[in-house]
Amino acid sequence: MDNILNILRQKNFVTKKKFGQNFITDANLLSAIADDSGITKGDVVVEIGPGAGTLTRALAQKADFVYAFEIDETLEPVLGETVGDLDNVKVIFKDILKVKPDELMGVVSKPFKVVANLPYYITSPVLFYFLENEFPLLSLTVMVQREVALRMIAEHNTPDYGVLSLAVQSRANAEITRYVSRKLFHPEPNVDSAVVKLTLNDGIPNRAVFDKLVRCAFACRRKTLVNNLMQSMGISREAAEELLSKAGLDVKIRGEALSKEQFLTLSEFLK
Ligand code: SAM
Repeated sequence: MDNILNILRQKNFVTKKKFGQNFITDANLLSAIADDSGITKGDVVVEIGPGAGTLTRALAQKADFVYAFEIDETLEPVLGETVGDLDNVKVIFKDILKVKPDELMGVVSKPFKVVANLPYYITSPVLFYFLENEFPLLSLTVMVQREVALRMIAEHNTPDYGVLSLAVQSRANAEITRYVSRKLFHPEPNVDSAVVKLTLNDGIPNRAVFDKLVRCAFACRRKTLVNNLMQSMGISREAAEELLSKAGLDVKIRGEALSKEQFLTLSEFLK
C-alpha cells in the first residue's frame, strides 16, 4: 500500500477536526495495536472510525472479519483504495452512537472484540455504549488521550481515581499496553495518547446502587463521604455514619480512598 499521506493527497482528502480525525502514520504502531488487542483468526472485530483504513487493514490481517463503522462518507474513495481489496472487511458509514444495540448485533451476530483509535471528542460515550449495553463483547482495545487512559486504570488514593476508573474497572480488567507520542499522527494533535486494553469481567451485583454511590462519593471530591452522602442522597449525618461503620469504614473517609471492593461492600448495605 502506498504511503497514507500520498493516498490522502491523491484523493484530495482533507482531515476534519469536527470528527476527531487524527490518522496514524506509523506502520509499526498499527501492527503494535493489532498485537495488543490479541485478535487472532476466528475473532470478529468491530472498529470505530476506520478513517483512512490503515488500522483496519492491520486488523484484517489477523482477524476473521472486521466491521468498521465510519461517520464520514467522504472517506469512501480513500477506504476504497486502502481496504477495498479485502473480502473480510465491511465498512458501514454510520455514526456508531446512532446504531441501536439490536441493529449492531443484526450486523455482527457473534461475540466480538472492539479495536479503535477513538475520536477524542466522543471517547466516553463510545466506551459507555459498549460497556453499558448487553453485548457479547470480549474485549476493547482503544487508543485514547493519555490522561483519559490514566483515569481508566487509576487505583484508589491517587489523583486520577474517580467515576471513570470505577465505571471501567467494575466491568473490565484494564491495562495500558503502550504510550503513544502525538508525533505519530496526521495532523498532530496537541495531546499524547495511550492504548488501553479492557478485558470484560463478570461485572458486579447491584449495578444501579453502585453507580449512584460512586457518583455521590465523587460529587465533591474534597468533602468526606459522609458529607457527600448527606448532600447527594439526602440522608442524615447519623444514618450516613452508621452506614460507614457497618461497612467497617472510618466516618472521616473520602470517596477517593475507597477501593472498588469497599464501594461494593457499601452498596450492599445501601441496597
Ligand atoms: N482509525 C484511523 C486511524 O487510526 O488512523 C482513524 C482514527 S481517527 C482518531 C477517528 C475516526 O473516527 C475518524 O475517521 C472519524 O471520522 C471517525 N468518527 C468520528 N466520530 C464517529 C462516530 N460517531 N461514529 C463513527 N466514526 C466516527
